[in-house]
Amino acid sequence: LVSRENHPERSTVHVGGVPIGPDTVTLIAGPCAVETPQQTLAAALMAKRAGATLLRGGAYKPRTSPYAFQGLGEAGLRILADVREETGLPIVTEVVDAHDVELVASYADMLQVGTRNAQNFALLQAVGAAGKPVMLKRGMNATIEEWLMAAEYIAQRGNLDIVLCERGIRTFETATRNTLDVSAVPVAQRLSHLPVIIDPSHSGGRRDLVLPLTRAAIAVGADGVIIDVHPAPETALCDGPQALVDSDLDVLADVLHTFPPLL
Ligand code: PEP
Repeated sequence: LVSRENHPERSTVHVGGVPIGPDTVTLIAGPCAVETPQQTLAAALMAKRAGATLLRGGAYKPRTSPYAFQGLGEAGLRILADVREETGLPIVTEVVDAHDVELVASYADMLQVGTRNAQNFALLQAVGAAGKPVMLKRGMNATIEEWLMAAEYIAQRGNLDIVLCERGIRTFETATRNTLDVSAVPVAQRLSHLPVIIDPSHSGGRRDLVLPLTRAAIAVGADGVIIDVHPAPETALCDGPQALVDSDLDVLADVLHTFPPLL
């Protein structure tokens, strides 16, 4: 269903009216985690200033340590909905458990499946049946074939509004949090008709790499980027070191304008 063989035209997925697809580079930006109404609104305004048309923000956080901030849950979803009301930005947010899909889908414009759940087949089937567009991150240990098969689980439930997101894979390298596989973009775009975006924040795990990796994403023909921004990353409850700050936003907007998509 997601293969390009039977569907030669590349697809565009619409999220709350915002297109993600071949003719544009969509910027999705926002905080890694929803912490407070003020922090989420401030991050959303930063995102907007950089040219974002979709707001990201996690209310359910899949953390390595059970002692780390796990997200605000439904209270976080309510904050996202309020910020959408205030800014007009549709919401992209992660769901980590099949039991939560209905609830998260009642708030979200797009459901995100994270790298750690990329082969959680029960979750993939549940989001496939939820009637909302889905962003499927590549599993950090997944081959491109496994990633596309995960997308197939979603599609099989009748949902072809799927955006693939390359977010870095596990390699022997430790200088970066993950290794961004830029080749995954053209490879996945050749094998599948689905849009493919890059997450330069979670791949590098470092603020100083976000803009260079965004340039790489655009140069390689990605259909969008998803980027963490935070009004005060030093106090962030999740992934502060990779969040862009106010002074990065003009450069980000410039990068997105000066690197036109490959048509
Ligand atoms: C995220 O985008 O908030 C996230 C946790 O990403 P990943 O699943 O790629 O680690």
